[in-house]
Amino acid sequence: MAEVYIGLGSNLEDRGDSPETQLDRAIESISQHPAISLIAVSSRYQTKAIGPGNQPDYINAAARLSTALSPLDLLDALQQIEHQQGRVRTIRWGARTLDLDILLYNNQVIDSERLNVPHPRMHERAFVLAPLRDLDASIELPSGESILNLLANCSDQGIVKL
Ligand code: ATP
Ligand code: MG
Ligand code: MG
Repeated sequence: MAEVYIGLGSNLEDRGDSPETQLDRAIESISQHPAISLIAVSSRYQTKAIGPGNQPDYINAAARLSTALSPLDLLDALQQIEHQQGRVRTIRWGARTLDLDILLYNNQVIDSERLNVPHPRMHERAFVLAPLRDLDASIELPSGESILNLLANCSDQGIVKL
């Protein structure tokens, strides 16, 4: 079984459901997946969009999972849930109903065409690091860097715990 952390984010409604409800639905789908156990879900944060244009704020969270799926099979499962919830990929970093990113998969470093783990931008994102800290403040990257140290360097990003 692999120990995995994922990041969840939403800043658009899908069929009338708010970003908060998108996260609820995603967590429900993940917990019902036969090959994934949901261990814990973090607090939620309201965060400013980093992408292009004038986008609504995001709701972000992180979750700890246990799974028998390989990294790529887990990515497929998460992308299927994104798709079920109306995710449409248009412009890079555009607004979206749901984003599910693999942050950490055991202590593995993966650099393939479809998948980079640890998530290549997690170290500079307070909206990823703060929910991870809530789940377990002792988390380290495979490089040995502590998420607490990384978070201390992102202190000016204006995220609000809900
Ligand atoms: P960012 O990666 O900066 O958070 P994003 O989440 O908006 O941006 P997406 O459009 O969701 O990016 O994903 C683009 C591609 O990134 C996916 O098709 C996937 O193949 C690839 N990818 C690479 N590494 C990861 C990862 N760790 N988790 C999820 N997707 C990944
Ligand atoms: Mg993302
Ligand atoms: Mg993504």
